[in-house]
Amino acid sequence: MENKLKNSNPENVVIIGSGPAGYTAAIYAARANLQPLLVTGFNSGGIPGGQLMTTTFVENYPGFPDGVLGPELMDLMKAQAERWGTNLCESDVVSINTDSHPFELKTLEGTIKANSIIIATGASANRLGVINEDKFWSKGISACAICDGATPQFRDEELAVVGGGDSACEEAAYLTKYGSKVHLIVRSEKLRASAAMVDRVKANPKIEIHWNTKVDKADGSEWLEKIETIHSQEGKGEINIKGLFYAIGHTPNTKFLDNKIDLDHKGYIDCKSGRPETSIEGIFAAGDVVDSEWRQGVTAAGTGCMAALATERWLAEKNLAKTIVRETPEPEKKLNSSDFNEEEVNADTFNSNSEWQKGSYALRKLYHESKKPILVIFSSPSCGPCHVLKPQLKRVIKELNGAVLGVEIDIDKDQDIAKQAGINGTPTVQLFKEKLLKKQWQGVKQRSEFKEAIKNII
Ligand code: NDP
Repeated sequence: MENKLKNSNPENVVIIGSGPAGYTAAIYAARANLQPLLVTGFNSGGIPGGQLMTTTFVENYPGFPDGVLGPELMDLMKAQAERWGTNLCESDVVSINTDSHPFELKTLEGTIKANSIIIATGASANRLGVINEDKFWSKGISACAICDGATPQFRDEELAVVGGGDSACEEAAYLTKYGSKVHLIVRSEKLRASAAMVDRVKANPKIEIHWNTKVDKADGSEWLEKIETIHSQEGKGEINIKGLFYAIGHTPNTKFLDNKIDLDHKGYIDCKSGRPETSIEGIFAAGDVVDSEWRQGVTAAGTGCMAALATERWLAEKNLAKTIVRETPEPEKKLNSSDFNEEEVNADTFNSNSEWQKGSYALRKLYHESKKPILVIFSSPSCGPCHVLKPQLKRVIKELNGAVLGVEIDIDKDQDIAKQAGINGTPTVQLFKEKLLKKQWQGVKQRSEFKEAIKNII
C-alpha cells in the first residue's frame, strides 16, 4: 500500500508500531470503519513486525496447536489488518506534538495530523557494550540468533548466548542446530526463563551453562575468535567461540515522545493499571511499551484491542469519528497472506523471464545467462527481517517493470552458495550484472536505495 501522507484532513486514528499490539488495534479500528493509518516503524525500535519477527516457533499463542513461526504470525496479522482497510505507512515517527488538537506526528516522510493516537512501539533489544563490540558487530556478534544462526561461519563452531531469560534459552537451544556447542552465559546463579524452557536447556547435551559469569571483551582478527569473561568468584577466563549472541532484555521505545507523555521510572508509558489511556486525552498505548511485566504476544494483542475500543469510544464521544462506508460489507479474502513458502525452481520449472524465482538452479542459470541485472536475497526460513524485505524487493522489481530479476537463496539449504558469496547474516542482498557484483546490502533497507542502485546500472 502506498504511503499515505498527502491527506491534510486529520486521520481518525494513527497507530504507531507494527507488532501484535499495533496490528490488533488496527484490526479493531478498521472493523469499526475508522480506516486507521498504521506507521510501521522502520529504523528505530527494531524491525517492522516487532519482536516476534526475531523469534522461531511461538508455541503459546492461542489457536496454533503445533506452534507458528513468529514472522508468519505477523504476516497473518498484517494481512488481516490490511484486509479490513488499514493504511500502512513505512516510516518512523520521530516526534509528536501534543500541545494542540488535532495532534501532529512528524515522520521521516512528512507530517500527519491525527484526532487520536495509539502508541504501540514496543521495546528494543539491549546491547551489552563489551570491549570491541563495534569491531565484531556482524562479524561474530549479533543481537539475533534466530536471524543469523544459519550463516556458514557458525556451522559446527562453538557459540555463546548471554542472558538468562526465555529469549536466551530459546536462542541457545536454537543454535545447537548449527553450532557444535553453545555456551549459555548467565550473570547470576539462576535462569529466569519459564520452567519448560529451563528444562529444555538443561536437558540439551550441547549446551553448557556458565553461572555467575559476565562477558568483558570480544577478541579475534577479522572475525570473532574468543571472549574474555569474569566469574564472580573465580575471576578472569576465556572461551573460544565464533559467535556471540545477546539476549539480555529490552528497553521501551519511548524516546521519540520526548517526555510529552508521562512515563514510569523504567521509561514505560504510565497508564492506569489495566487501562489504555495515557496522561494525554486522546492518546492511548498498548503492548510492551506500557508493559514491563507480562510482555507476551497475546497480552500485547489483548491491550491493542482494548486501546482500539477505547479510541473508538473516545472519538464517538467527542464527535470526531469520520467513518467510511464500505462498497461491500465483506472485504475480499487474502488467501496468500504469507508468500514465504515458495517452491524452489528446477530445470522443468525455471523460466528465464520470471520476475522472481527461488533456489540455486535459478541463480546459476540467471547468473550465467541473463543480460538483465539480478537481485539476489539470501534469506533463512525463520529470519523475520527477510519477511519484511522480500515483499519490498518484489515491489521494486514490479515498479521497474521487470528490468531486474529477483532470486531468493535459502542459506540453510544452499550453504555452499552462501559460503561462496561470503554471506554472514540474513537478509543480505546482492545486485549482479553480467556476473559482476555491483552492490551489496545487509539488513532491511528502504526501497528507494535498491531502486537507485538498479537504475544506475540499467
Ligand atoms: P528478560 O528481561 O526476561 O531476561 C533478560 C535476561 O538478561 C535476564 O536473565 C537478565 O539477567 C539478563 N541480563 C540483563 N542485562 C544483562 C547484562 N548487562 N549482562 C548479562 N545479563 C544480563 O528478557 P527476555 O528477552 O528473555 O524475555 C522478555 C519477555 O519475553 C519475557 O516475558 C519472556 O517470558 C518473553 N519471551 C517468551 C518467549 C516464549 O514464550 N517463547 C520467548 C522469548 C521471550 P538477570 O536474570 O540477572 O536479571
